[in-house]
Amino acid sequence: MSVIGIDFGNESCYVAAARSGGIETLANDYSLRATPSAVAFDGKKRIIGVAAKNQQVTNMKNTVGGFKRLLGRKFNDPHVQHELTSIPARVEARPDGSIGFKVNYLEEDQHFSPEQLTAMLFTKLKETSAAAMQTQVNDCVIACPIFFTNAERRALLDAAQIAGLNVLRLLNETTATALAYGFYKNDLFEEKPKNVIFIDFGHSALQVSACSFTKSKLKMLASTWDQIGGRDFDLAMAEYFSKEFQERYKINAKTNARATLRLLTEIEKLKKQMSANSTKLPLNIECFWEDIDVSSSMQRSQMEELCAPVLQRVEQTFKRLLAESKLQLDDIHSVEIVGGSSRIPSVKQLIEQVFNKPASTTLNQDEAVSRGAALQCA
Ligand code: ATP
Ligand code: MG
Repeated sequence: MSVIGIDFGNESCYVAAARSGGIETLANDYSLRATPSAVAFDGKKRIIGVAAKNQQVTNMKNTVGGFKRLLGRKFNDPHVQHELTSIPARVEARPDGSIGFKVNYLEEDQHFSPEQLTAMLFTKLKETSAAAMQTQVNDCVIACPIFFTNAERRALLDAAQIAGLNVLRLLNETTATALAYGFYKNDLFEEKPKNVIFIDFGHSALQVSACSFTKSKLKMLASTWDQIGGRDFDLAMAEYFSKEFQERYKINAKTNARATLRLLTEIEKLKKQMSANSTKLPLNIECFWEDIDVSSSMQRSQMEELCAPVLQRVEQTFKRLLAESKLQLDDIHSVEIVGGSSRIPSVKQLIEQVFNKPASTTLNQDEAVSRGAALQCA
């Protein structure tokens, strides 16, 4: 029997396990390492992960995601209300004030809580891990954001319990990243402490921490965070394109959930291309609105202008970490980046500006958190 480490991301999950002396990230039933944090319902079927994401456009009402950030909260919590502005599913207050995602399942309208949806996702992760390792899986270590409250952590534990997982430990995502780094760099540490900054910039959050490593131990010096992530870049770009389509084609994309979803999907692809390319890139969507095809373009510098407020918050979070850690620039050994949004070039520039060190990619940017979680119990 094996222990798995789970990185439950707002956009996607990764699972890793200790095997034959090393740590391995496990592939799911689509031979992919990333499992989208999405659950869908179709008649009598429950569809989870890659398959759920793949059918989202044609089954919007019954496909749900974004529930990580709703765990352990009440419907009228301002944080929840803010999250709901970017969740296309039908979400309602339940009589006890809790959150219910409304879907049609088994031919009737049903409500599922964020805990139940997370449990469905965990059940899938448990099954695909067991299949990948050809052994039963019961024990796990789950990583969660450093800013998760006790209520959020408890809800996560409830979800794991519903999924039949025994949680050996909940680990902060920042700690998991540092552990993953320490495991591989162990031989380099001496008696004199080495200070490393870790930056995890994901889909919904930015978490930054400063750690000091010596031969025998890891010490967290400081951590800062902000509730910003890749989705904020997508939304700023969507605002721009929606305005343009309104003027050029007289289409108000915002009034149609499917058009909004298709636009955001294309924008995310465009944003990823921009990380590797600074020239003008096209955005084309066929039959965007009835039979109207839309086309436009954007280049990286334009995206940076549109996302200036987000980038400003990134910079402030970096500066806060530097101040709180009390480290001098010369004390910093390296700045290690993880999380999908840390691939954005202007984020790497801000790292150089604030920490006076280039962003280092020692860790696997997508898998580090799950690998650190798996290491915790290896
Ligand atoms: P969170 O940590 O906030 O719960 P997550 O762990 O699911 O979310 P990640 O998988 O680390 O998030 O990152 C996903 C985000 O990274 C998405 O917003 C995605 O668009 C963005 N992203 C991935 N690759 C790139 C890239 N090459 N350039 C820019 N952004 C990228
Ligand atoms: Mg993450």
